[in-house]
Amino acid sequence: MKPELIQKALDAGLYEYGHHARPLAQKWEPFLEGRPVKRLVVAYDNADYTFASQPLFTEEKALLLSGIRAVQEAFDAEGVEIFLPEKMQGLADGFGYPVRYGKVDVRELGEGDLLHHPETLANIARVQAGQGPMLYAQVAQGGTEKTVCLPLESTVGGFIQAAGMAIEEGTVVAGGWFGRMLTPAQLSQPLYGLANCRIELFPQGFCPVSFAQEGSAHAAAESCGHCTFCREGNYQISRFLKNAVTGHGTEEDIPWLHTLSEAVGEESVCSLGQESVRFLREALVSESKSFDAHIRGKRCDKDVCQAFTDYAVDGSLCVGCDKCRSVCEAGAIEDGPGFIHRIDVFECVKCGKCAAACPEKAIYRVRVGRLIGPTKATKVGRFRTSRKRY
Ligand code: SF4
Ligand code: SF4
Ligand code: SF4
Repeated sequence: MKPELIQKALDAGLYEYGHHARPLAQKWEPFLEGRPVKRLVVAYDNADYTFASQPLFTEEKALLLSGIRAVQEAFDAEGVEIFLPEKMQGLADGFGYPVRYGKVDVRELGEGDLLHHPETLANIARVQAGQGPMLYAQVAQGGTEKTVCLPLESTVGGFIQAAGMAIEEGTVVAGGWFGRMLTPAQLSQPLYGLANCRIELFPQGFCPVSFAQEGSAHAAAESCGHCTFCREGNYQISRFLKNAVTGHGTEEDIPWLHTLSEAVGEESVCSLGQESVRFLREALVSESKSFDAHIRGKRCDKDVCQAFTDYAVDGSLCVGCDKCRSVCEAGAIEDGPGFIHRIDVFECVKCGKCAAACPEKAIYRVRVGRLIGPTKATKVGRFRTSRKRY
């Protein structure tokens, strides 16, 4: 064992990255007390579907390899094995260690396995080289995603700024793999500790019910099926939430969502099942009005869910530039240059491309039946209304 290598990492106060975040001092305790390390396991959390730290397997490969070697030597580990998600197929083939692609079966891990996330190993290597720890994160907005790597203590706002994105009024930020709503005050706190690896911006509005539905559908599709609650529970949750966002929810669904999400969180053995319901469990309490609005009121109180909203042009903002019409593949936008454009809600497939293309931010979502705009061809600047967006 090489205590000086270990001491450096402990002195730097390094943490294990990811779902099992805790100080390395705590994680290493049994091994420092004499338990032999049979295998150093390098693995992503099963819940991590963003792979923000993927550059560690490409341009920063030397750094990661140095971290692996340092820990292997420090603990006299007999062997090293790398587990990578299938989406990273081939990336560690030249590393000189056995690699397995797919989910980590946590039941296979034994007492002599020391498990580290690649981000943790990279930071151990950085600290050995006299540098500070760093953190990779993905920042997403609409269809754009950017990966940035900043010092570990960087704030949520710092990551957003480094990605070249801005927080506009009304934007909600959710961090982590399956999301967590962040308050404005949390934007000036370090990302690490609040959530890992992913920040999402929703300048067009954020609906917690729809976000939870997407997360549960993803978890149901990704579940390896070993745990009944992760497999069946996420499928059932996804079905209840799909009903909620399409106007088919029933009152009994709410207690079921509480019961199932608790069971999935408690009974799942790996990070995928445990993380998959974290957002839902928080949102069922903090955003209970939104769940009620969808299920009992048959409306999306955030004007996001497609079933309850239409795309509309704000007649007072449209400058008749025609950009929206040129991107609409459904041919749902009426009137030409110089005229206030109008959307035919019966032709519109609600793809949102026009809203993204409009330079005036004149296209928005509105509750079904409450459009504001002219009903016949009207020249730009000739439309007046007292109705406001809400
Ligand atoms: S929690 Fe889900 S993904 Fe993890 S082992 Fe159980 S079934 Fe598989
Ligand atoms: S949402 Fe899509 S289909 Fe509807 S008007 Fe806009 S571009 Fe066309
Ligand atoms: S892109 Fe926006 S401003 Fe231009 S015509 Fe369409 S709605 Fe009007």
